Amino acid sequence: MSHSESNPKKSIRKGIKLFSQVDLPEQKFTNPETAGYVGFANLPNQVHRKSVKKGFEFTLMVVGESGLGKSTLVNSLFLTDLYPERVIPPAAEKINQTVKIDASTVEIEERGVKLRLTVVDTPGYGDALNCSDCFKPIIQYIDDQFERYLHDESGLNRRHIIDNRVHCCFYFISPAGHGLKPLDVEFMKALHNRVNIVPVIAKADTLTLHEIKRIKKRILEEIAGHGIQIYQLPDADEDEDEEFKEQTRLLRESIPFAVVGSTQLIEVKGKKVRGRLYPWGVVEVENPEHCDFLKLRTMLITHMQDLQEVTHDLHYENFRAQRLKGSKDSGGDEVEDPNLSEKDKMLLQKEAELRHMQQMIARMQAQMKSQQKDAGSPGKVTSHQV
Ligand code: GDP
Repeated sequence: MSHSESNPKKSIRKGIKLFSQVDLPEQKFTNPETAGYVGFANLPNQVHRKSVKKGFEFTLMVVGESGLGKSTLVNSLFLTDLYPERVIPPAAEKINQTVKIDASTVEIEERGVKLRLTVVDTPGYGDALNCSDCFKPIIQYIDDQFERYLHDESGLNRRHIIDNRVHCCFYFISPAGHGLKPLDVEFMKALHNRVNIVPVIAKADTLTLHEIKRIKKRILEEIAGHGIQIYQLPDADEDEDEEFKEQTRLLRESIPFAVVGSTQLIEVKGKKVRGRLYPWGVVEVENPEHCDFLKLRTMLITHMQDLQEVTHDLHYENFRAQRLKGSKDSGGDEVEDPNLSEKDKMLLQKEAELRHMQQMIARMQAQMKSQQKDAGSPGKVTSHQV
């Protein structure tokens, strides 16, 4: 067994690198679409085989003003139509509109691996004349999922908990502004302790390269200036492959990802590509020189497990500590010490991480055995609205 194989995290990354087909540094972000698949077929490397059997669960939330291209991007990312019956309300209806929470689940299957993907859309966000309260239903939704998990975790049937917690939130920033708007700042400040926020600049094809550079810099400065904690890609270990380090570096320096979405196939130089056709040419969604779409998808797929772990170990633990504190204060009969010091919290978190690592080693061993048996079959994408 090689050194990287004895380290579960590294073996996982190795697997993911293969499936995300990111071949650095020569090819940078190559296009997994040429193989006609999204690239999560190696998720068994990340999760327990049993969970893979019943379907790997991931919840992605998309937030941003309407019209910024959220639905288009989500459909382009997962090669599926998540919103077949969508109705867009007229402006008059939007004036006093409250934010709705719209969760759609699709099952995507690739090489026999099922991904049960829930995309939580937030129509109406930023639409009303007075938007000061528009992130409250979103906070409520995230907390409700934590609450449900907490309830299920303390119940009898702990083995079969469905994890509906929000693992990642793509926050769409308008390309038309000069950086963040007050609503963007308020939202991120209110949500950064609850969910992994990944900021994206919408409709990047409306910006020149120079403008993209400028707006990215400005957004990062504003995020730092307001003390907002966005999702941080984990550091690649010192002894990690150079390719993986380079990939992490490139992904990190691309944040906030400037994306373009389209579900339309257009022929360019004899090849069908997803893109947007303009009188002056085609913007190719999956061309890394045109936008950060592939980087965003690589980030999401490569770090899916980390996004889940951070959700569990950090955001959920925060919620749990607060919740237990609250119920003790209000006379509840929870046994946990509500006055956990920072050090205790850190220790608890480390213990949880250790448990995760041990579980992962067991998973990897089981998975390696099964991989020896199974030969891969070609990828296939199926989806249905739930
Ligand atoms: P949502 O309301 O945020 O879900 O936005 P939609 O996905 O419905 O997109 C709104 C409009 O913007 C549609 O006409 C899309 O075709 C267009 N659109 C979506 N993505 C892009 C993009 O990346 N660039 C440009 N220029 N237009 C886009």
